[in-house]
Amino acid sequence: AGGVGVGGREPRRRRALVFPLPFQGHIDPMMHLAGALHARGLAVTVLHTRFNALRPGRHPEFRFVEVPDGVPANVAAAGRIIDVILAMNAAMEASPAPVLAALVSAMEAEDQEAAEGEGEPRAAACLFIDGNLLAVQRVAAALGLPTLVLRTGSAACLRCFLAYPMLHDKGYLPPQESNLDTPVPELPPLRVRDLFFSPVSSHEKVREVLARITETVRNSSGVVINTCEALEAAEMERLRGELAGLPLLLAAGPLHKLSSRSAGSSLLEQDRSCIAWLNARAPGSVLYVSFGSLAAMGAGEFQEVAWGLAGSGHPFLWVVRPKLVRGCDGVRLPDGFEDAVEGRGMVIRWAPQQEVLAHPAVGGFWTHAGWNSTLEGAGEGVPMICRPDAVDQMMNARYVQEVWGVGFELEGELERGRVGDAVRRLMEGAEMRERAKLLRRKMADCCLESSGSSQIAMDKLVSYILSL
Ligand code: UDP
Repeated sequence: AGGVGVGGREPRRRRALVFPLPFQGHIDPMMHLAGALHARGLAVTVLHTRFNALRPGRHPEFRFVEVPDGVPANVAAAGRIIDVILAMNAAMEASPAPVLAALVSAMEAEDQEAAEGEGEPRAAACLFIDGNLLAVQRVAAALGLPTLVLRTGSAACLRCFLAYPMLHDKGYLPPQESNLDTPVPELPPLRVRDLFFSPVSSHEKVREVLARITETVRNSSGVVINTCEALEAAEMERLRGELAGLPLLLAAGPLHKLSSRSAGSSLLEQDRSCIAWLNARAPGSVLYVSFGSLAAMGAGEFQEVAWGLAGSGHPFLWVVRPKLVRGCDGVRLPDGFEDAVEGRGMVIRWAPQQEVLAHPAVGGFWTHAGWNSTLEGAGEGVPMICRPDAVDQMMNARYVQEVWGVGFELEGELERGRVGDAVRRLMEGAEMRERAKLLRRKMADCCLESSGSSQIAMDKLVSYILSL
């Protein structure tokens, strides 16, 4: 049944279900997508796990349904993303009934609303899933509910996943100490060391997770990538060839710019006192330092970062979240550090990052190059030092440096002198700053209402949903 009502009435509002993977970097883009769909007249139901559960009270415009995730307590406590993904999928495959019940309840809720006199039925048109939720896709397929995949990484990253079997066949993978710097001409400008790895999970587990993502993508009724033409026109073009069988493949990002939703999906409390602190700083003077929600460093590296920032001479705002130091639950700053940086440095547990990056006082971003952080930094025209830790961060850093030229990777050992040098190079360099401003303008054009490529992609997406 088409989405157009009988007798020439307005298209009927339909409902989209969304099911993010329960990690910060996956939740945020899905909730922004939900916000963008809602703004275009669709009703939205969010499915979420108990692990890293969302707070429905913060999103009164959405309906919420909890799905039992089956993640064993010890795996949840360790919080390793690859293990959580595998455990969730395994539990849902072993016992699909709870997921089935949650999906049915999410789909049926609509008709109930209509029966209670709250408007027409807004039947569930489709389910957006994170690419890591193959088990959920299988249950949806059994119900005849089409799934669309939201890819929360870059287009280049999806190309890398699709290429993973070929990269093994050609001997690039598994990586060897001796081939880390070997270029991969099939995926320029990546080197072997930039392909997708995890320091805490075996290569075989990574391979399994990526193979499942590829299967989910290929089985889907469409894929939305949180990227834009200004960043990845060539990668999108190649993907369109590589995934020619897909009914829909869209670059509709950066999603946080297409949705007016704010930080309601933050798992940690954001410390807003940093905004007043930034207000008192000169334009472009502050380095914002954050390594995202999962990346961790050794205790020695943490000391070097601290003293490197102190020695750089530049003002900084540093996010030191609990568990930033590997093996420690609470992090203690080095003795004497606070006195050394008084008035020049601020340390907080968790920032309102998008607002911080958009603040005029911020002139540089030291990031782990998670894809959301990369999009957020590039989207605000802030040049970046990249210190990738794992997964897709190495390739994001590579694009920042080699393709967009809006930053550079800090490679090798973390040592205070090298940290200070990198900070000065970033904060005092003019060229990267100029390129970053240019890139911001191009990205903003993608998000322009009516004529921007990402807005057009979003319109196409909504028409497609209404046609399902
Ligand atoms: N973030 C935040 N406050 C912080 C640090 C990070 O709100 O202090 C948000 C950031 O804006 C981004 C997300 O957390 O949207 C991190 O996602 P990313 O893909 O960069 O990295 P991940 O945490 O998945 O490694």
